[in-house]
Amino acid sequence: MSHPELAPIDYAALRAQIPMSRVLDLLGFRPVRGRSPQLRGPCPLRNCPGVKSPNFSVNVQRHIYRCFACGSAGNQLDLWAAAEQLSLPAAAVHLCRVTGTPVPRRLTASQAQQSTRSATD
Ligand SMILES: [Zn+2]
Repeated sequence: MSHPELAPIDYAALRAQIPMSRVLDLLGFRPVRGRSPQLRGPCPLRNCPGVKSPNFSVNVQRHIYRCFACGSAGNQLDLWAAAEQLSLPAAAVHLCRVTGTPVPRRLTASQAQQSTRSATD
């Protein structure tokens, strides 16, 4: 049951390694408005009904986006999943492959005890 390849994906670690700006680059996003970190431009999602207007708002510092045309929103991994029309786990593995990043896996229970961090805010 503890085969390393079956360990759950560590999404937080993945998002820490692959920033929103990298995902935007991969998707060919070109901001037309705003100032970093808050940018605005045409939605990079293929099935978006508003691709010609700057409906897509993204914060590259907080790694979150929202499109006012198609309603898609989330973090950089959600964006990649939406762009590639993949489930979150499949998108995570795919994004790692595209960027040459090893897929981060969650620590086992005994390893986690040493580095547990609560992220309450
Ligand atoms: Zn959109």
